[in-house]
Amino acid sequence: MSALATDVAIVGGGTAGCAAALALRRRGLRVVLLEKGLCGAMASGTNFGGVRRQGRDLREMPLAHRAREIWSRLPAIVGEDCEFRVTGHIKLARDDAEMAELEAYAPVARDAGLDLSVVGANAVRDLFPWLGAKVIGASISPDDGQANPRLVGPAFARAARAAGADIREHARVTAARWTGTRFEVEAGVLTVHARHMLNVAGYWGGEIAAWFGERVPIAPLCPNMIVTEPLPYFIDRSIGVCGGNVYVRQVERGNVIFGGGRGWGDPGLERSRPRADVARSAMARLLEVVPQLRTAQVIRSWTGFDGEMPDDIPVIGPSGTTPNLIHAFGFSGHGFQLGPAVGEILAEMVVDGRTASPIAPFAIERFTRADAERRTA
Ligand SMILES: Cc1cc2nc3c(=O)[nH]c(=O)nc-3n(C[C@H](O)[C@H](O)[C@H](O)COP(=O)(O)OP(=O)(O)OC[C@H]3O[C@@H](n4cnc5c(N)ncnc54)[C@H](O)[C@@H]3O)c2cc1C
Repeated sequence: MSALATDVAIVGGGTAGCAAALALRRRGLRVVLLEKGLCGAMASGTNFGGVRRQGRDLREMPLAHRAREIWSRLPAIVGEDCEFRVTGHIKLARDDAEMAELEAYAPVARDAGLDLSVVGANAVRDLFPWLGAKVIGASISPDDGQANPRLVGPAFARAARAAGADIREHARVTAARWTGTRFEVEAGVLTVHARHMLNVAGYWGGEIAAWFGERVPIAPLCPNMIVTEPLPYFIDRSIGVCGGNVYVRQVERGNVIFGGGRGWGDPGLERSRPRADVARSAMARLLEVVPQLRTAQVIRSWTGFDGEMPDDIPVIGPSGTTPNLIHAFGFSGHGFQLGPAVGEILAEMVVDGRTASPIAPFAIERFTRADAERRTA
């Protein structure tokens, strides 16, 4: 058995956890990050790679703007751009109801600071001649983009380690408790003593919150992902549709990555698999919007785990039961874009006791209060 004393114990080495480790080191705190596998290998490394603000719940928009600003500065922050490209994001309408949805969202998103324009069928044809006849309109967010998810988490982990963070991989946390003065966090033969603890364990953040008496209705979310052989580059935007049942982007090397629908996952076993029937449906919808892909060869499919909350926004904020414990999990399928900002926000909360970013809508009490009332009843 060995013991280690630190200022902050971080449970989870996804983008959020690694970005927090880096931000905390830059504020001068000692950090031990415990990751059960490899940093950035779970949701942070298996996701679609969309760095979009368009379509977000407006309560997330201030965090998404903050994150977008950080994405542009990645080379200065982590030493590489992680293939972040400002390709813009376009959301397509395939019928009148979807067009009405785009038109309703645009003014409220603009009020929330997002540059967004809505165009009809003729303009879509002019701007994106490779889109199919099914597309009758689009809303365009020119400053959104895409990045390589495989690179981002590890880049933050390397930068945090270089800044002095103690990053432990293959270190599964099996228990954590607050003694009244500090946390005792157990990972195999190691016990970490820390004044603060961050729960950034992705889907498993729900389990860790429950150790501290905070039960939340988190569910596994396993989006089905597919990639084709490399093709000549022509999809020069990241693309989604109303309702989200298909989304596609092409990397500069030529591979077309797309998703739509959900795969299979058992978080207890930590096993997830894409589903062939779901992939075939996504392909059919994809060909309606990008017919040119009809002869493309699929080379691989996969999925991963995120945590999904019933109201589709994450838990971010202090624990309601335990001092110095801060949660950030349950990003409901859209936390890749937010990760770099979440890291900074968590560091501010530890060091300053507060953050200027508006996180009140993400409080864990929105679930735990209802749970306590139900139990009392
Ligand atoms: C297939 C897929 C596609 C997606 N597409 C997009 C997209 O295009 N754009 C977007 O913005 N978001 C997307 N998302 C969501 C996004 O990937 C996640 O919201 C985000 O990566 C969450 O980051 P995180 O750091 O909070 O969690 P994770 O990356 O899941 O990291 C949590 C880490 O905690 C570790 N951990 C858990 N329990 C323990 C324990 N007991 N001890 C030690 N370590 C532990 C895990 O091993 C994991 O590495 C997608 C998600 C998936 C799965």
